[in-house]
Amino acid sequence: MSSRGKTMTEQDEERPERVLEDLVDANHVLVDKGILDAFGHVSVRHPFRADRFLISRNLAPGLVTTDDIQEMSFDGETSDRRPSYLERFLHGRIYATRPDVVSIVHSHSPSMVPFSISAVPLRAVWHMAGFLGEEVPVFEIRDSVGHASDLLIRDTALGGDLAAALGDAPVILMRGHGFVAVGASLEQAVARAVYADLNARAQTAAIGLLGEYTALTAEEAAAAAAANDGQLQRAWSVWRDEVRRAPRR
Ligand code: MN
Repeated sequence: MSSRGKTMTEQDEERPERVLEDLVDANHVLVDKGILDAFGHVSVRHPFRADRFLISRNLAPGLVTTDDIQEMSFDGETSDRRPSYLERFLHGRIYATRPDVVSIVHSHSPSMVPFSISAVPLRAVWHMAGFLGEEVPVFEIRDSVGHASDLLIRDTALGGDLAAALGDAPVILMRGHGFVAVGASLEQAVARAVYADLNARAQTAAIGLLGEYTALTAEEAAAAAAANDGQLQRAWSVWRDEVRRAPRR
């Protein structure tokens, strides 16, 4: 049967190992797009166990293969004895509090960081990032653990605080650290991470022109987000093809 026209979830039910392959491709796409480097990670909710998620062991995303994927509880526990990502707790607590979320990307992109440390709010200025809506929340870790932390989401309590700050939003900035993007599918989380980052670059460029700039209205942002969500497979299919043509070893 052709997979055309089916959602990724429907395809996963036909071939469970496919979700592992998709997660590996997502790692490589996000490296290719400059969202992940040696650090950062992407996860996906377990297709059959709603209280588990899948994420690579502690490894640079460009090196991830299907053998590296760990099955993780929302408290960051796994039976896999290989080292896990230090910040796996942010994934777990977001899945626990957001039943709509199927995939999560965490990135340290330097394009996004300026909006986490300055008074300038990240705005949806470009139709491809309409999903950002009117306001992007910023997580201030000092509110949780004071002024001497390493800024990492190292436990379930910090993961819970981040999830609470995220609320119903698709993206949250983390002060002096990076950001998290979530999606109702792996393709949507990946695309949101990619286009939030490009929107930040466009907004920074506009600010550099030393003039006023125009952001999308809330209505424009919502309409653009809906239009783009209808085209997600086009982005995913070409991005995956690019990394499969030039596989990382
Ligand atoms: Mn981090």
